[in-house]
Amino acid sequence: MNLLPFGRLPVYSPRRFVPVDADLGNWDQIDPLFDRLELEAARCGGVGDLEKWLLDWSEVSAALEEDGARRYIAMTCQTDNADAERAYLQFVEQIEPRVKPRQFKLAQLYLEHPLRSQLPQPRYEVFNRNTRVQVELFRQENVPLETEQAKKGQEYQKLCGAMTVQFRGEEKTLAQMARYLEEPDRALRQEAWELVARRRLQDAEKMEEIFDALVALRETIAKNAGFKNYLEYAFRARGRFDYSPSDCLRFHDAVEKEIMPVLRDLQAERRSQLNVVTLRPWDLAVDPLNRPPLRPFERVEQMVAGTQKIFDSLNGELARNFQQMQDLRLLDLANRKGKAPGGYQSTLAESRLPFIFMNAVGVQRDVETILHEAGHAFHALATRSEDLLAYREAPIEFCEVASMSMELLGNEYLETFYPVPEANRARRDHLEGIIEFFPWMATVDAFQHWIYTHSGHTRAERTAAWVALMDRFGGDVDWSGFEGVRSNLWHRQLHIFLHPFYYVEYGIAQLGALQIWANSKANQAKAMQDYKRGLALGGSRPLPELFAAANCRLDFSAGAIRPLVDLVRAEWAKLN
Ligand SMILES: [Zn+2]
Repeated sequence: MNLLPFGRLPVYSPRRFVPVDADLGNWDQIDPLFDRLELEAARCGGVGDLEKWLLDWSEVSAALEEDGARRYIAMTCQTDNADAERAYLQFVEQIEPRVKPRQFKLAQLYLEHPLRSQLPQPRYEVFNRNTRVQVELFRQENVPLETEQAKKGQEYQKLCGAMTVQFRGEEKTLAQMARYLEEPDRALRQEAWELVARRRLQDAEKMEEIFDALVALRETIAKNAGFKNYLEYAFRARGRFDYSPSDCLRFHDAVEKEIMPVLRDLQAERRSQLNVVTLRPWDLAVDPLNRPPLRPFERVEQMVAGTQKIFDSLNGELARNFQQMQDLRLLDLANRKGKAPGGYQSTLAESRLPFIFMNAVGVQRDVETILHEAGHAFHALATRSEDLLAYREAPIEFCEVASMSMELLGNEYLETFYPVPEANRARRDHLEGIIEFFPWMATVDAFQHWIYTHSGHTRAERTAAWVALMDRFGGDVDWSGFEGVRSNLWHRQLHIFLHPFYYVEYGIAQLGALQIWANSKANQAKAMQDYKRGLALGGSRPLPELFAAANCRLDFSAGAIRPLVDLVRAEWAKLN
């Protein structure tokens, strides 16, 4: 039974190494493929053989990756289907852990290969660099620690998922409570906010325990791999070759200097529009002019048609890409019972096709999400002709440039969904969100820099470090009476628990996206060409070159941020 939204997909590149009918959920059929790859590595007689061997290895990896992705998609599209869940877990528990050491072995064979030095350069420069790190960091004794880390992460998610409150006689999840923060009635907002805040505080002690355990595990993992602390390890493991921890600290300073004044202005304007003496934490999500929420569409087909029209206006090639995704049913967009929450884009590595998943309900946020995920999808399609799997995947800092640019560029055509005044309101809200994001990003990132360079810290010291960052980046919000909530606010940031140091990437990428948007204001056709040129490189070049190809710079200094902030301010003035 096919549990996927799409049917049989066109074959992009016929298999020449993996048997066409191979069952990739069966380890007995996968194991011999790795045996063969190991044997053939030894048999390479010339550099051409080695390049062919790399493509065979890519083929195996892509086939496995796609099989895993298909199982994940089927599961998230129907979480209530036991077969789909079983198929996914079988892959995660039986296949992936066995694949890992075999992939590591191939990486080792490659690095030690006598013909490797004869491979054409710079073609293999980035591949060599990434493979070297993979081998350098691998420690058998860290494997159980990583499993333990994943389990602690699961515990955190379970704890968060189980939190509910009783609101007006009904049990509600915290996600369901978020909409009350958009209600014009201030007393209602406060009631909802306090209820959620108090519920979170009940589990604060458990959160701290989980986090203490995670920090201890991470410090051990770093030590085992020969690093002085987890900060140094994480930068290496995340493949951050082109910027350093101190660059990130300078980024935080630049946010403080260039963005905080804008944030304070926004907060002052909100305060006066809401006509309140001080802004309280429950005043931040409501429309300051008390207008009802924007409603861009009723049915998902309208959202798809409107999005298609946006791409038709933007660029012919992107428009054809999005149409192709519709034709192949590579979109599952409507919210319905049994679907996993959230949205994502997933790439089917062997078919070299993207898939988009989301839960559209008819709010402006849905339009932003489809534009964002479509940006990721265009990235996947732009690298289709690249045969080396590793180069079809770009570093995350640039992946998010592809998606965040598309939000900004697509927003120029929001009139497909709204009359002009409402389109302007949506654009303004989007830009406001971008400004508000930077200080929070800096807070989350700087906090982690502190944590992983202060080994042996106490919980009280950790809290003090967080509070100091809230003072620095929180702006003018009145938390009086809720100091305990404020000092534990980081408990709700999943990345701190599950994906350490993964957050600054969004800040770096947003700067790239703003530059591409600025370029498009000057010359849209050229900006689109540059955008596509950057995407087409995939992961084949170092990060600064990917930025450069898209005609923007990897630079997070105050000097680089300033003109972008000026542009946002100028745009605001026009939208009012
Ligand atoms: Zn994204």
